[in-house]
Amino acid sequence: MLIQGGCHCGQLTYELDWPDDRKPVPARACSCTYCTRFGGNWISDPNARLQIRATSPDAMSRYRFGTKTADFLFCSFCGVSIAAISRIGGKDYAVVNVNTFSEPVTLAQSRSDFDGESADDRLARRAQRWIAQVRYRLPSAD
Ligand SMILES: [Zn+2]
Repeated sequence: MLIQGGCHCGQLTYELDWPDDRKPVPARACSCTYCTRFGGNWISDPNARLQIRATSPDAMSRYRFGTKTADFLFCSFCGVSIAAISRIGGKDYAVVNVNTFSEPVTLAQSRSDFDGESADDRLARRAQRWIAQVRYRLPSAD
């Protein structure tokens, strides 16, 4: 199943190639202090493939906090966060914000709370569960 989505103004878009047509799709509302503020609700599967596109070099901003092991990707213009990226062993792993899907997808909703998890456990969990194939189509600044 191909899921398309993006930020509000359209400068950041993505294609998420979801590994099967299984529905509902499991989504996790994150209870961290950042996600709580905008209702971050995430989807991931190790066999999914994600391609992220930006219309200009300055369209994509990053934000990190706490253990600083993940970057939230958000649009520099409209401020919407489409994905979070964790770089582990030189490779990017991702989760995608279901609130940014172009078309609604039926979700099996749960909540996650990773407070108190050590940084090592966090990276191990992401390397197992997050989207393992992440590509970028970003225009260069020159
Ligand atoms: Zn935008």
